[in-house]
Amino acid sequence: MSQRIPVVEKILSANDQLAEDIRKRLDAAGVFSYNLMASPGAGKTSLIERTIAGLAGRNRLAVIDGDVATSIDADRARAAGALAVQINTGGECHLDAFMMKSALETLNLDLVDLLIVENVGNLICPASFKLGTHRSVLIASVPEGDDKPYKYPGMYRGVDALVINKTDLLPHVDFDMAYFRRGVEILNPELVTFPLSCRTGEGLEAWLEWVAAGPDGGQARDDRE
Ligand code: MG
Repeated sequence: MSQRIPVVEKILSANDQLAEDIRKRLDAAGVFSYNLMASPGAGKTSLIERTIAGLAGRNRLAVIDGDVATSIDADRARAAGALAVQINTGGECHLDAFMMKSALETLNLDLVDLLIVENVGNLICPASFKLGTHRSVLIASVPEGDDKPYKYPGMYRGVDALVINKTDLLPHVDFDMAYFRRGVEILNPELVTFPLSCRTGEGLEAWLEWVAAGPDGGQARDDRE
């Protein structure tokens, strides 16, 4: 057992090194980037579609989609009007910097202002692997339940922004917003939050402004663990 720990550390540090290189490459190309994380079904792809439509004519978007299988999500992003690349992880529960590098090689960054990375749907593993993106965003959704910050603290602790999606369902489910927000506050005080509904469009404007603001939309949290 004791021999396993150094191996894991080595993998992570190689990943972090590559993530730093990716960040430099994005900076050099003038691309500002977001790593979207959430459980399956929280609305990552729906939010991306809304974001592409909402920023059309203002920012040129590209999307890197991570899924275990299929190109359904990249197809949706492309149909919505963005450059899109699909990564199939073949079973891995997260994206890593090596996959990110391969995907970037297929994109012409001269045509891109904002890059959104849709991570694999999972509330544990993606938090541990840096991709070189500038901001980490978590999407929670109302039907998932109000206890998720308490159950998945690592994910909530490490992000720069929190989207609370499917607010249109609040009247129909038992979701105690105050209890949810208390859990978030303990883990990540002053976290910027965007309650919204991708279905109705309510609350989307504040999110779009934050994304479009790029580096002015909130501080990087690279120093956080
Ligand atoms: Mg998706």
